[in-house]
Amino acid sequence: MNRNQSQGTICVQGGWQPKNGEPRVLPIYQSTTFKYETSEQMGRLFDLEENGYFYTRLANPTNDAVAAKICALEGGVAAMLTSSGQAANMYAVLNICSAGDHVVSAATIYGGTSNLFTVTLKRFGIECTLVDPDASEEELSKAFQPNTRAVFGETIANPALVVLDIEKFARLAHSHGVPLIVDNTFATPINCRPFEWGADIVTHSTTKYMDGHAMCVGGCIVDSGNFDWEAHRDKYPGLTTPDESYHGVVYTEKFGKGAYITKATAQLMRDMGSIQSPQNAFLLNVGLETLHLRMPRHCDNAKQVAGYLKAREDVDWVCYPGLEGDKYFELAGKYMPVGTCGVISFGLKGGRKAAARFMDRLKLAAIVTHVADARTSVLHPASHTHRQLNDEQLREAGVDPSMIRLSVGIEDVNDIIGDLEQALKE
Ligand SMILES: *Cc1c(COP(=O)(O)O)cnc(C)c1O
Repeated sequence: MNRNQSQGTICVQGGWQPKNGEPRVLPIYQSTTFKYETSEQMGRLFDLEENGYFYTRLANPTNDAVAAKICALEGGVAAMLTSSGQAANMYAVLNICSAGDHVVSAATIYGGTSNLFTVTLKRFGIECTLVDPDASEEELSKAFQPNTRAVFGETIANPALVVLDIEKFARLAHSHGVPLIVDNTFATPINCRPFEWGADIVTHSTTKYMDGHAMCVGGCIVDSGNFDWEAHRDKYPGLTTPDESYHGVVYTEKFGKGAYITKATAQLMRDMGSIQSPQNAFLLNVGLETLHLRMPRHCDNAKQVAGYLKAREDVDWVCYPGLEGDKYFELAGKYMPVGTCGVISFGLKGGRKAAARFMDRLKLAAIVTHVADARTSVLHPASHTHRQLNDEQLREAGVDPSMIRLSVGIEDVNDIIGDLEQALKE
């Protein structure tokens, strides 16, 4: 990939450069397996001595092309697709943590990730300390332990819409000799490239804006190649000492900057198998071809909708990092000068009851358990994703009982506002 190409060109053409006579459009390699002339050749592939495809759980040309496109968009050195955003975050951590290790994570992260870190990984013997991302560096330093192996946060948290101070978190992680992993799902590389601010590994739920059409669940991990595993070799034996399950290969020695993703593929994907189907990777690629056009439209529409809601008497509060006056407006301006995302949260003065009435009256915006696709959609966390909690428990979880999560689509903004207006009317 030509590193000097701009984001828009990479979105359209990145990852697949057909040679003479090959298909113009990225083909779907709908095959579990690949054929070889000699047994010897196949053997070399299994030894990681030669590059080549042999089984789609380990690698597939369609998936690799799409991973290469996302890698170029983020400015990384290597990337892999996963079956979901959950799998991406699980692998990103498991690739460098085992039983007895510890992770520091911003508390304001996606509910599924929070559950993964504090419940499921705990059962694997990996502990997690959740921290307030807005705390001072001194305060945050107290969360680190001798066994800490990674720091985690989201560029724009789902659904709290908290903007991560990436430079602060990178400084903290690096001063403790561990990498910073950033989930860049909501901002996408069109609006923010976390590697430029010191993040070491980026993850995505491609299910959201990257796909953009609510067609496929998927994920991706990108490595910047910047973290020096060898300098902290005692902490990362999985990368810096022989892998007996792979003929004694030492990933950092053999693969250099490609060590992290090679290990995640050769070891975690081999053993756990959360591969993205090539069919889904193809559809994801079609979505990526317009990511640079859709993101500015999502952001423009959301900004206008947020301004409209803010000016209404019956709206109690509005949270949108792209709106002047928002708690995270300045941080967003630093890390995402061209736009944030299309997701807004707000509360009506009538609380929970008014939220239900409002949502039931919407005609254009649909009630769905999803965010970040082309169609405007809406969700009431207290009645849906967090339904089992009472109001007090909701507040503890950082979800106001009145909170409405509105994912602003790319329709005509006047129609979106018109729909909100008719639903809010007395
Ligand atoms: C949706 C989401 C995930 C989980 O991704 P899936 O593709 O649904 O598994 C992780 N992180 C963030 C920020 C998300 O929005």
